[in-house]
Amino acid sequence: MKIVSDVKLGTYTFVPKEKGEQEILSTLVKSIKPGEKLKYEGCSQDNREKKDFRIVHLTGPNNLKLILAGSTREDRFDVNNIRNLCFFGSGGLIFLGAITVGDKTAIVVTGKYCKLCGAAMIDWGASEWSTCDACAAKCTHKYVRHVVHGPKVDMDVADFCTICGRTKTKLKQRSRLERHLAVERELGLSIVYKDTMLTPSQVAHIRKMAAAAPNN
Ligand SMILES: [Zn+2]
Ligand SMILES: [Zn+2]
Repeated sequence: MKIVSDVKLGTYTFVPKEKGEQEILSTLVKSIKPGEKLKYEGCSQDNREKKDFRIVHLTGPNNLKLILAGSTREDRFDVNNIRNLCFFGSGGLIFLGAITVGDKTAIVVTGKYCKLCGAAMIDWGASEWSTCDACAAKCTHKYVRHVVHGPKVDMDVADFCTICGRTKTKLKQRSRLERHLAVERELGLSIVYKDTMLTPSQVAHIRKMAAAAPNN
């Protein structure tokens, strides 16, 4: 699928490219109405490239399955963003309408609408907090020190606004263990790794002992 993103409009346009995609989209537009949702059913690995690319699985009316796999590398980056949007922010995509591109039927979708101004959004973070960037910029911000997460961060500690969900400063680049230690230390939350039954501070302590031990 060729995917055209428009961050300003808050839309994605899916243009069929691969065999079978035109048929699925043509069938879909006959049964789906504007405002109806394509439900996110999870993702799988796109094995055509070494990088971590996803394929997104969606379901429309009458249980119609739409499998979203990018045609080019650029499209695959968009599919990854769509996965994050669905996973963190919207749980699916909202169908806006169909358009004709060349001789093909394409569909236009969005992720979510801003709760304050109603703007369509495709950014996962904005959608998670139902607040667009323009409204977040006008937010009076009420920061609390808390756990945050994201596509590349399982957990970290940051000052984030409980109204718009934006963090006060960009997250520091640090290792997974450093992030977990910060969550333990700053918030007093207990973390135990399932595989080893150790806590982050125990892991850090063991690593320190191993590094200090004489090498013989
Ligand atoms: Zn807004
Ligand atoms: Zn805010």
